[in-house]
Amino acid sequence: MSDAPAEVQPLLRKAGLFKDILLNLPMMLLTAMMLTGGQAPGDLLHRTTLAVTFIFVNLLFFLMVRTGKTHKYRSSLFIIIAVCFVISFVSNLIEVRGSMVLTAEDMYSGETPFCHLVIPMIIIPAALTRTIIFPGSMLEGFASIASMIVLWTGASLVLGRAWCSWVCFFGGMDEGFSRLCRRPVIKRIDRKWTYLPYAVLLAVVLTSALTLSPTYCEWLCPFKAVTEFVEINSFKVMVQTVIFVSLFVGLVVVLPALTRRRIQCGLFCPFAAFQSLTNKINVFDVRIDRDKCNLCKRCINACPTFSLDEQSVRNGRTCLSCTKCGQCVDNCPQQAASFHIKGTPVAVGGKARMLFLYPAFLFAVIIGGGMISDALARIIKLISTGSMIH
Ligand code: SF4
Ligand code: SF4
Repeated sequence: MSDAPAEVQPLLRKAGLFKDILLNLPMMLLTAMMLTGGQAPGDLLHRTTLAVTFIFVNLLFFLMVRTGKTHKYRSSLFIIIAVCFVISFVSNLIEVRGSMVLTAEDMYSGETPFCHLVIPMIIIPAALTRTIIFPGSMLEGFASIASMIVLWTGASLVLGRAWCSWVCFFGGMDEGFSRLCRRPVIKRIDRKWTYLPYAVLLAVVLTSALTLSPTYCEWLCPFKAVTEFVEINSFKVMVQTVIFVSLFVGLVVVLPALTRRRIQCGLFCPFAAFQSLTNKINVFDVRIDRDKCNLCKRCINACPTFSLDEQSVRNGRTCLSCTKCGQCVDNCPQQAASFHIKGTPVAVGGKARMLFLYPAFLFAVIIGGGMISDALARIIKLISTGSMIH
């Protein structure tokens, strides 16, 4: 896989600086509204970190528009959001509970932050029992069940599986580690592994329905290793913890680094398989112009989530699992790969890209902007006082 620069999209290369600034203005207004909620924070530290976040995200958006490179700047934002998520989330937990440990009392109090990975597991139990099988608050606190489901529904309708490359605060972790080595050490991965996320999805949906508990969270989630985990007070919890840590090291750190691919997101995550289905109801996709494509396979080798193969390129389409990350678009030397709106000709790729970028980038800022600002404030506090806790 190579990150070598490909030609920028002609529509954007010709655009002047003034036009690019104009294209940036709506994003500046929207991100200002989203980051502040219409109200600037009272203290200087948070006002400063919010201003830095605002400048940083809008600089990235401007560069995305100006250079025509989607993946390059998206990836930087995505990885930074993942790092800031861990800093902000863990500090918040320590502030509220005193540690990353989730005790039985915490679960009974129903205040566990809700995470989108649980969504496929709660549907059948909710239909059968009219209850949500997750110990979170419906409306109160940060990451309430209702707020996360509303955000996920909106983003899924607008972006489909682009959620996994633009919005998911976990996805930036395996993307970050996948960029550690300049060249892949493991080059070939059998495509039959791409069915594994669907098998894991089926298994966790069925076992969650049978046991009325979120089995992926209890047994398989690698991100438990860097967020919150149950107090180790029994052999069962010890086994669960060993599984979480092993999966994190294997799927999020080591294999992504060795393959330069997003192994957790591309080959294991059941939510990713579930989210792929939303690509069916979404207007945006990525297409290959078969008249321009010379089948060099550079996009196939570049795709971090195994969403292209020779057959799909020949057909001019990506696989259902495409996360609209833009890597194939950035890397195609023929400018054959482009963002696309279903039902329109493939040739209008530059305009389709802009129409996709606004909601995709905005959702990234809605979810991640506050995390960046909060993490920055905590880092400054750590440097100045020795503690990250407010
Ligand atoms: S779409 Fe572009 S990168 Fe992919 S095979 Fe065709 S020419 Fe090569
Ligand atoms: S097909 Fe292209 S846009 Fe889709 S996930 Fe792969 S590299 Fe990203």
